[in-house]
Amino acid sequence: MLKNIHIVLIGLALFIMLHTFLETIFAGLTTIVLMLSWIAFNIFSIKHSLFLKSICRIRTKEKIVFLSFDDGPSYKFTPIILDTLKRNNLKAIFFCIGQQAELYPELILRISCEGHYIGNHSYSHNWRNSYKSSGIIEDEINHTNEIISNIIGYKTTLFRPPFGITNPSITKALKNTGLHSVGWNIRSLDTVIKDPQKLIQRITERLIPGSIILLHDNRRITGQILNELIETIQKKGYKILPLPEL
Ligand SMILES: [Zn+2]
Repeated sequence: MLKNIHIVLIGLALFIMLHTFLETIFAGLTTIVLMLSWIAFNIFSIKHSLFLKSICRIRTKEKIVFLSFDDGPSYKFTPIILDTLKRNNLKAIFFCIGQQAELYPELILRISCEGHYIGNHSYSHNWRNSYKSSGIIEDEINHTNEIISNIIGYKTTLFRPPFGITNPSITKALKNTGLHSVGWNIRSLDTVIKDPQKLIQRITERLIPGSIILLHDNRRITGQILNELIETIQKKGYKILPLPEL
């Protein structure tokens, strides 16, 4: 009888120890998962990032929106975008990649001469570099600014982080170079969506005053939809304006 009680007590103690151990492991794992999710959310959500403050929308009640084009200039598609903007007498901002600017300086000049603003979108547009030291990111920014300013005669003060990635190294690099980060509040997904109508719908149903719309001037579909996109935005009572001085 006494022996049985000992076995029961030892079993109970082992059960409590195992339970406590598993509970601690579970609590630890939950904390790690939550922390990693929080870090990932800050890195990949430029709108909500605590690492880097970006202008993602202009605070206004006026029905105005802003068009931004990333990843160019593209020999094939940037001229189509520029022609459409010109026909509609609209100005936009182009966040250009340094390597592309080096290849097509005449397009950088055309963008600028037609009254659009040019922003810096890194030199290599390599996502790996976004996770490197602030010095390497600074080099990318400075190199691109030099290429662009040699063509258009002024240094841009606006930067859009490639892939919208934000982290403390990028924040430090921007502080040292004196550039401001510009994000977006409407991601068009023109790099993913294949159906022109779906793309126009996705953008226009998300419009709110002061929206900054992310598009890409190195995509065929963007050139295809731009005219209809502009018309649909205007039909909804919105004006498309150039970004104000930030
Ligand atoms: Zn990009």
